[in-house]
Amino acid sequence: AARDPHQPEFLQAVREVVGSLWPFIQANPRYARHALLERLVEPERVIQFRVSWVDDKGQARVNRAFRIQHSSAIGPFKGGMRFHPSVNLSILKFLAFEQTFKNALTTLPMGGGKGGSDFDPKGKSDAEVMRFCQALATELFRHLGPDTDVPAGDIGVGGREVGFMAGMYKKLSNSAASVFTGKDPAFGGSLIRPEATGYGTVYFVREMLARNGQSLEGKRVSVSGSGNVAQYAIEKALELGAIVVTASDSAGTVVDEAGFTPEKLAALMHVKNETRGRIEDYAREHGLRYEAGKRPWHVPVDIALPCATQNELDLDDARTLIANGVQCVAEGANMPSTLEAAEAFIHAGVLYAPGKASNAGGVAVSGLEMSQNAIRLSWARDEVDQRLRGIMHSIHESCLRYGSQPDGTVNYLNGANIAGFVKVADSMLAQGIV
Ligand code: NDP
Repeated sequence: AARDPHQPEFLQAVREVVGSLWPFIQANPRYARHALLERLVEPERVIQFRVSWVDDKGQARVNRAFRIQHSSAIGPFKGGMRFHPSVNLSILKFLAFEQTFKNALTTLPMGGGKGGSDFDPKGKSDAEVMRFCQALATELFRHLGPDTDVPAGDIGVGGREVGFMAGMYKKLSNSAASVFTGKDPAFGGSLIRPEATGYGTVYFVREMLARNGQSLEGKRVSVSGSGNVAQYAIEKALELGAIVVTASDSAGTVVDEAGFTPEKLAALMHVKNETRGRIEDYAREHGLRYEAGKRPWHVPVDIALPCATQNELDLDDARTLIANGVQCVAEGANMPSTLEAAEAFIHAGVLYAPGKASNAGGVAVSGLEMSQNAIRLSWARDEVDQRLRGIMHSIHESCLRYGSQPDGTVNYLNGANIAGFVKVADSMLAQGIV
């Protein structure tokens, strides 16, 4: 905290992980050696750079961009790029730190990284987005490589942006090596990658419920966000028989007591992905209740899936959800629950899955995209989906291994943090002090 006083999100993420690790490390002195924790909270490398580009009016514009290469202990740095006006060093360092543990949980050989820019893609033309992505790639390319650092998408970065950055990388490096994941399948992207984070979150919910003899059938579910993760979480929840009653964006929430149908979801995806409109537009078109400025957490549900952004669910929201009888909260977003909210869920006996466990399906399929690119093959949709399910099952098993309590319940937060740490820490110990 003394070293990074102005990085609240980063400190929050570190506090949460260290809270889980501290008792474990004291019981296992092997992990108290060689300044393991001190090394783990310091990124291996932080790159900050200027991105200058020209808008449609011919005006020069300047943005700030970063790449955090947090840990390469178990493989090349891996983690998405985020384009959002709120992006700063604190947010990207928290994301890169979390990513390191998450990637360790996937069973695949990937280190942790994250990057992004304060560029706001909202309201920009395709040509402006392309020029910005190309300008960013002219600096970023020198820090990437298939065995060095492999970025992907995140908030504000989808297939379109990944394509523009990957195109410029190829031109500058004279190499078609795979240094981005989340590509279009036409040039090396994996099937199921767009769906993977949302699907994986719901697969994880299914694992948690199954252990308690339950399923998603007939359960009321609230989802926040309406972007990539939210859309496919809704799709999979519907497929498994749940009733999804909310979606949102940064301006407000739509409440649909009758529940989403595949047709309504297709309409929402059209508004968000094609016309790049707002959830308010979708609500109006379908005559649904729109609550400006509100989040979905006051709506009574059995299962809540926060899929928008960090710190979007605070202690008051957690208390409301608990009072309304929520059974399960699984994070599609990264750190959407504040530390106090997460503790309240665990204390109340809610099945609470932290993002680094429940949303790891996205990066897991990115890892599978790297594997397919390396062997120059592409796997069928079913094959990738099957592997994704297997990975989510294995992450759930890891949480049980390190998070099972004497009373038979599972602390998924401790389980995920400790399981991720053990793999990274063992690799660091084996490689010496570097
Ligand atoms: P998108 O850009 O596709 O969607 C983001 C959604 O969250 C939008 O509905 C957006 O609303 C909303 N949102 C963004 N910022 C805020 C904010 N400050 N306050 C309220 N709402 C906000 O991003 P993704 O769906 O890809 O990412 C969502 C979350 O999932 C993030 O936390 C991300 O880190 C995490 N994640 C994503 C993965 C992936 O594979 N894409 C993998 C693992 C985690 P609006 O349109 O109004 O901005």
